[in-house]
Amino acid sequence: MHHKNLGHWAVVVIVVLLIPWTYVSYIYHFMMPELRQGNLLYSTFWISAATFMTALVSYTYYKCIAIHPGSVPDTWRITQNSESSELSQRESTMRRRSTIELKSQGAVRTCKYCRVRKPDRVHHCSKCNQCVLKMDHHCVWFNTCIGYRNYKYFFLFIVYLVVSEAALMATGMQEFILCFTEV
Ligand SMILES: [Zn+2]
Ligand SMILES: [Zn+2]
Repeated sequence: MHHKNLGHWAVVVIVVLLIPWTYVSYIYHFMMPELRQGNLLYSTFWISAATFMTALVSYTYYKCIAIHPGSVPDTWRITQNSESSELSQRESTMRRRSTIELKSQGAVRTCKYCRVRKPDRVHHCSKCNQCVLKMDHHCVWFNTCIGYRNYKYFFLFIVYLVVSEAALMATGMQEFILCFTEV
């Protein structure tokens, strides 16, 4: 990791702080009043649900960052210097046939930064400074690319987050409305 990328981790630090902050605020502001009012079953259910969902959101967030999005397999890593050998000539022809995405001249796409031949759906990320398999996008919230290997966790993270927010709104809104009607 380069020092110039250190600033990009600030967004990740914010997310890492935001997750427990939301969890604690929810319990303190929305569930503690319910507990004090004696709604034991209601608050126990939603505290458990919030704990479970926070764990899932945190786990998928961590996995998405920890798992490399996927790099070009070694079998594709032939530098331009070795292209003259007979073996790589043959391999090169094979790969040209096996890729659908080609350059306009019909050649296999190559990355000018990594100097590798690019299989289909591989794109170079200038922020990660690497070629990424099945690249979806570079995500600033994770400070990594979303690609072949971590897409599953990215997708689950979004699903868990949306479900959590919907539950938070549904149970939190009730509190907000109560606040206004009680005044
Ligand atoms: Zn590249
Ligand atoms: Zn990237």
